[in-house]
Amino acid sequence: MNVPGAPDPTEFRRVMGLFATGVTVLTAEAGAEMQGMTANAVMSLSLDPLLVCVSVNRRARMDAFLARAGGYALNILSEDQQALSQFFAGVWPHPSPPEYRLEPWVGGPRLVGCVAAVGCRVDRVLDGGDHRLFLGRVLAVHRMDGPLNPLLFFGGRYHRLREPVREPQDPLEAWNPEDVRIFYET
Ligand SMILES: Cc1cc2nc3c(=O)[nH]c(=O)nc-3n(C[C@H](O)[C@H](O)[C@H](O)COP(=O)(O)OP(=O)(O)OC[C@H]3O[C@@H](n4cnc5c(N)ncnc54)[C@H](O)[C@@H]3O)c2cc1C
Repeated sequence: MNVPGAPDPTEFRRVMGLFATGVTVLTAEAGAEMQGMTANAVMSLSLDPLLVCVSVNRRARMDAFLARAGGYALNILSEDQQALSQFFAGVWPHPSPPEYRLEPWVGGPRLVGCVAAVGCRVDRVLDGGDHRLFLGRVLAVHRMDGPLNPLLFFGGRYHRLREPVREPQDPLEAWNPEDVRIFYET
C-alpha cells in the first residue's frame, strides 16, 4: 500500500525510466525446461562474496521458476539483440520467434552473441514489494571478444552507444586510486 500523497506509480515509472540501463535476458533451467525473461532491474551487488541481484515481478512466470531452477544466468544483450529483449519480454510482434542460440552454461543457458554474461546460483530471495530480489552467488563470468556494443534502455526506448567501444578499459584501471579508496575503505 502506498503512503498517502506519494507520487503516482506511472509518474514514478516515468522518472525511473530516466535511469539509463543495459538490458539483460535472465535465463534459468529446471530439468529439461528453460525459461527466459528480459530484465533491467539488475545490480552488481557485492565483490566479497561475489553477488548480483535481479528484481523479478511476483506475477512473472520466472518468479516461481527460479525457485525450482536454483540458479540463473544474466545475459547482457548486445545492440543487435533488441529482438531478443522484445521476445523475452513477451512483446515480440511477429508469429515466429527471432533467431537465437543458447549454450549450456553455469546457472542457466548462455545466449550466443551477448556482450557478457554472469552465471550464478540463487543465494537468497528477499521481499521487494510486488517484486522479489534474487541474490545470485556468482560462479562464472563471460565476456565477448572484440568490440563491445551493448543494447541500452532509456525513457522506455532502446538506444545504442553513439561511439562503439573497441577496447574497454578495465574498470579498476579507469579509476583514480583516490576514488577507489571510497569503495574499499570503511
Ligand atoms: C527493457 C525491459 C526490462 C524489463 N525489466 C524487468 C525486470 O527487471 N524485472 C521484471 O520482473 N520484469 C521486467 N521486464 C518485464 C518482463 O520482461 C515481462 O513482464 C515478462 O514477460 C515477464 O516474464 P514471465 O516470466 O512472465 O515470462 P513469460 O511471459 O513466460 O515469457 C516472456 C516471453 O519469453 C519467451 N520465452 C520465455 N521462455 C521461453 C522458452 N523456454 N522458450 C521459448 N520462449 C520463451 C516467450 O516469448 C514469452 O512470451 C522488463 C521488460 C523490458 C522490455
